[in-house]
Amino acid sequence: MATDQALADEIVGTIRAWVDRDVIPNVAEFEQADEFPQAMFDQMCEFGLFGSTISEEYGGLGLDITTYARIIEELSRGYMSLAGILNTHKIGATMIGRFGTDEQKQRFLPRMCDGSFRAAFSLSEPDAGSDTGAIRCRAVRDGDEWVVNGTKFWVTNGVRSSLVMLMARTPDDRITCFMVEKDPGVAFEGITVSKKIDKLGYKGLETVEMSYVDHKVPHANVLGGDEGIGHGQQYALSALELGRINIASRAVGVAQAAFEAAMRYAQQRETFGRPIYDHQAIGFKLAEMATKLQAARLMTYDAAKRADAGERVDMEAGMAKLFASEAAFEIATDALRIHGGNGYTTEFPVERYFRDTPLMIIGEGTSEIQKMVIARKLRDRYPAE
Ligand SMILES: Cc1cc2nc3c(=O)[nH]c(=O)nc-3n(C[C@H](O)[C@H](O)[C@H](O)COP(=O)(O)OP(=O)(O)OC[C@H]3O[C@@H](n4cnc5c(N)ncnc54)[C@H](O)[C@@H]3O)c2cc1C
Repeated sequence: MATDQALADEIVGTIRAWVDRDVIPNVAEFEQADEFPQAMFDQMCEFGLFGSTISEEYGGLGLDITTYARIIEELSRGYMSLAGILNTHKIGATMIGRFGTDEQKQRFLPRMCDGSFRAAFSLSEPDAGSDTGAIRCRAVRDGDEWVVNGTKFWVTNGVRSSLVMLMARTPDDRITCFMVEKDPGVAFEGITVSKKIDKLGYKGLETVEMSYVDHKVPHANVLGGDEGIGHGQQYALSALELGRINIASRAVGVAQAAFEAAMRYAQQRETFGRPIYDHQAIGFKLAEMATKLQAARLMTYDAAKRADAGERVDMEAGMAKLFASEAAFEIATDALRIHGGNGYTTEFPVERYFRDTPLMIIGEGTSEIQKMVIARKLRDRYPAE
């Protein structure tokens, strides 16, 4: 159900004011130390953001996809990593809300609303990223339990999460989603964090490799129960369809920040006796940046609104993600160039935007994968006869 417009505007306005007041002035501290932004996280919990899309029936805010996209945009305008802290959790909650049994929804969703029980999403492996069907992590049934063995890569929020939505291959050679419960931050029987991945950007939250050795998961934690066995890949890809709207929203948020920084700088910095904004080459660059930003935002909102209306949006979400992520990278690059040498220093935030934007091109399906999805859908929509 669509969120009441006045309520949506109020929530987004509250987040925007908080980002301006408490996030933007303090980001550099966490970014440069690659430190978890605990106070910002606490405030996100206070706002109820971890339950933002969980139905009110389970204690969440029950916001629609468009409102969530606008929240992600605002968070990313301040610090893209905040959206990352939230996003894997949102994917997990979406999967449980859509595909969980009634008992699983009752058991997990109420606990997932206040941020104390957070979810990670674990599909990728060292040799399986775009090719999701190539995963090797295995789960074998042993009575009322499944025994998991394998290595998962790129697990964002893997350490601090309490629940890992783990995709593993079952003996029928299909992929099943297991809800792995663990204590956040501590070693857990049969699970080790085998590597912390050092990243170009997207600092402040952990992305890790996790290894499972004979880790036991109760059969009750197979997403969807008996009927869910073998459907994990389909469940994950369905949640990622919405995930792509979130990634597009992140891209719009970072692009907005980069554009605004460039606008400010171009009007203050003078060369040859006038603000660089007045050199046509710079003015034109800003005009192109603003145009791409506007197009990216409209495509993202359009995909979100269609999803809220119950339409299947794999093509529109793919297009929004493809366009917005590539546009954000170009806008961040141009913002850095407009800052000249200063853009290459940590004194100005544009270097962070420049490091953060490639993630949106890669995460939750690269641009090449989006083009494959779009091309496939185009043929369905425009058959030869
Ligand atoms: C910071 C970060 C956080 C992440 N967090 C998570 C997470 O929380 N959970 C999770 O499960 N995953 C996560 N990922 C993984 C992410 O989804 C994958 O990195 C992404 O899907 C690409 O997979 P890959 O890295 O294996 O690249 P590959 O699949 O090896 O692709 C390499 C290159 O080949 C191209 N390519 C591949 N196949 C084709 C094709 N058929 N046609 C044309 N080009 C092709 C790709 O576009 C890319 O340019 C994260 C990644 C990053 C970088």
